[in-house]
Amino acid sequence: MKRSKAAHKSMEPALQAKYLFHHDRALTFKKFPFDSMKTATCTSAALAAAGFYCTATKEAPTSAKCPFCLKELEFDPEDDPWEEHLKRGQNCEFVKLNKLDDKSWTVEETIRLGNVCRIQQNFENQIAFLDGLKVSTTTNVAKLKLK
Ligand SMILES: [Zn+2]
Repeated sequence: MKRSKAAHKSMEPALQAKYLFHHDRALTFKKFPFDSMKTATCTSAALAAAGFYCTATKEAPTSAKCPFCLKELEFDPEDDPWEEHLKRGQNCEFVKLNKLDDKSWTVEETIRLGNVCRIQQNFENQIAFLDGLKVSTTTNVAKLKLK
């Protein structure tokens, strides 16, 4: 088995909570299709405010994801991102906190949400790493020959 450098790098723990703050999530949206539609409620600004960052691809150009609960949704122009997040993210720490403006967070809330973000990032990195090794994530650990 050959380990690629990219896969190796992804095992490094995430030290920064990349999408913790609204500002950083907003920067991930570039030429979001609904931003040019006058009647759309689901703009990149509304998505970033509701906790989402852009995960758009050619196949799913309106896809966005929550870094706190990892819910990834494909949005429609008339969606209200925060309503969708409330509906589908009952266990999401960002939804539970219910303070969209991160400037209103206390230090404790910021630390807690930052930790949630990092844990989720590390989880995703490790899943991607195992994917790179072609290890099924549902394999029983006893069957892995770990050195
Ligand atoms: Zn969420």
